[in-house]
Amino acid sequence: MPSHPRLSIVVPFFNESLNVGHFFDRLLPVLAGQALSWEVICVNDGSRDDTLDRLIEAHRREPRITVIDLSRNFGKEPAMSAGLSHARGDAVIPMDADLQHPPELIPDFLAKWREGYDVVYAVRHQRTGQSLLSRLRAKAFYWLFDKLSDVPLPREVGDFRLLDRKVVDVINAMPERTRFMKGIFAWVGFRQIGIPYEQEERLYGESKWGVMKLLSFAFDGLVAFSDYPLRIWALVGSVISGFAFLYIVVRLIKTLVYGIDVPGYESIIVIMLFLGGVQLITLGIIGHYLGRVFNEVKGRPLFIVRSRIGGDDDEPSDRRPDGAA
Ligand code: UDP
Ligand code: MG
Repeated sequence: MPSHPRLSIVVPFFNESLNVGHFFDRLLPVLAGQALSWEVICVNDGSRDDTLDRLIEAHRREPRITVIDLSRNFGKEPAMSAGLSHARGDAVIPMDADLQHPPELIPDFLAKWREGYDVVYAVRHQRTGQSLLSRLRAKAFYWLFDKLSDVPLPREVGDFRLLDRKVVDVINAMPERTRFMKGIFAWVGFRQIGIPYEQEERLYGESKWGVMKLLSFAFDGLVAFSDYPLRIWALVGSVISGFAFLYIVVRLIKTLVYGIDVPGYESIIVIMLFLGGVQLITLGIIGHYLGRVFNEVKGRPLFIVRSRIGGDDDEPSDRRPDGAA
């Protein structure tokens, strides 16, 4: 660990206007109490309210707050990647802007880091304010993920964690566009440890995660870390072919012994529908992976920075086009 360590806090903001002030009111005192230099990288992920203006205001009052303004809404994971690639700290802590991640946990993170851990992640005590249904959904997802992929995902762990510089460098160098961060964090390895915390309710506004978005996020995560859904159809196909072969033999013998009987409409329709369904599912899953390959091959950037306000001058810091900064 360096003698004068530097800490970077990375926070994605999407329509968090009401939370900006409260967030810094709670974060800055915690940082002030630490014997290290720090920076806060705020990524404005194409907010449609005045989040950006609030962030720039905060930067004016506290120059150690840097604002990265993305060209549009890219989603939380790309926004996080944008922040990670701009962070210069020896340790980096990604956290949410809605105060669901208590800043008071930061000293505990740092203590574990000083003990030599490379990743210190926060483990939710319980899912406060969550319905039985969403808890069941989460359970089902983790169960499936464990079955399908080789990466063990720690439970009740989000993005709130401390990452050592070497881990951040590895993540920044990863070219994949599907940033299933939970999986990536677990996949990179290093010395990891969890510390428990009580997750609070979101301060203002609503979570941006609808059911459909969550489902597609879960599916993306599975696809990014397992090719099992792609391979299982060979097995399903072989089993079905085996049965089909047996059935052919049975029919042949029956025809030879008893002659041709016309009835059989039901069985034909049932088998046709079943096989058609299986084939469509297979095609859909292959399509999903193909789409993923297509996306990766295009090699488009993960995020586009419109401007940066504040921060080190090791790369040009653009001004806002309207000259507001
Ligand atoms: N967020 C973002 N871009 C998005 C959606 C969310 O940068 O498209 C940010 C959001 O401002 C917050 C964090 O990601 O700081 C977590 O979002 P949210 O609270 O909606 O997610 P949840 O806590 O429900 O997982
Ligand atoms: Mg939240």
